[in-house]
Amino acid sequence: MTKQDAIDGRTLVAAVFGDPVEHSLSPAMHNAAYRALGMNRVYVAFHVRPGDLEKALRAIPALELIGVNLTVPHKERAAAIVARSSREAQMLGAVNCIVNRNGRLYGGNTDARGLESDLRRLGVRVRGGVAVVIGAGGGGAAAVLACARLGAKQIVIANRTIARARSLARRFARHGIGGGRITARGLDALTDARVLGSAQLVINATPMGLVTRKFAPLNCRLTPRSCLFYDLVYSKTSTPLVRLARKSTRRCADGAGMLVAQGELAFKLFNGVAPPAGVMRKALSRALGRRLV
Ligand code: NAP
Repeated sequence: MTKQDAIDGRTLVAAVFGDPVEHSLSPAMHNAAYRALGMNRVYVAFHVRPGDLEKALRAIPALELIGVNLTVPHKERAAAIVARSSREAQMLGAVNCIVNRNGRLYGGNTDARGLESDLRRLGVRVRGGVAVVIGAGGGGAAAVLACARLGAKQIVIANRTIARARSLARRFARHGIGGGRITARGLDALTDARVLGSAQLVINATPMGLVTRKFAPLNCRLTPRSCLFYDLVYSKTSTPLVRLARKSTRRCADGAGMLVAQGELAFKLFNGVAPPAGVMRKALSRALGRRLV
């Protein structure tokens, strides 16, 4: 099958559950890969409200869905509901994909690997250096793990609620990640020369600038010229963090590349085969109406 109008009685279904979910670009990426591979499968978006998550997860084996991605606000709650999950999903306290293996559900998380892969693609050099992660939710946790895997010597979590940043730092310490060099700060760290002065990587894992219009005070010029600013948020135009970094002539990228990379990993988990190189990226670029960095 190469076209979705060829859906028939044998078509298998994968999905994303979210609230809201209409904006999700995952269907565009996954369906492009199914078309390229000629697989009789489709990927759809289901609007699942928080109160219905448990029922929706129970329906996965009943409806014989191949696999499901979870997006805001379901990742943490799903981690508590799904009985079997990867060590990584447990460590992150969040499940962003569920694979249906003969009626048994397995939770996974491809966010940290997806981000790590995109940062490598961008040639980031943080080994032995300092990384700053803004945010301490599910995305922040994935960013901290990616930075640790890239060999950052010191990781500073800067969060509006400092207690949440501390709790995330403690969680990684319990899992032996970061060698005790993950520290917690408030957003004041973003104007502190002692923090930014040696930062090689600054990652935003908050919706700041989108929901609040303004980003918290952030002095990009305090960072070395080689510092890369990475925004987990992505949009059709440039994000507020990307604009700030550009103004200070620092390298920057938004989270579109991470979305592609985590999607490629999830596709492989759901279908047992990798999507053809570049297909999901091209589909996302088309859906966003712009070139990806
Ligand atoms: P989350 O678990 O809800 O965490 C949100 C974080 O943002 C928290 O640290 C929160 O701080 C902070 N925050 C929220 N509103 C804020 C504000 N007005 N001012 C300052 N801080 C604020 O969300 P998440 O799942 O980590 O997602 C974070 C962002 O990353 C979202 O925009 C999401 O779309 C994006 N994301 C992108 C990808 C991708 O593939 N590109 C993957 C995952 C996530 P407090 O602790 O103080 O509340």
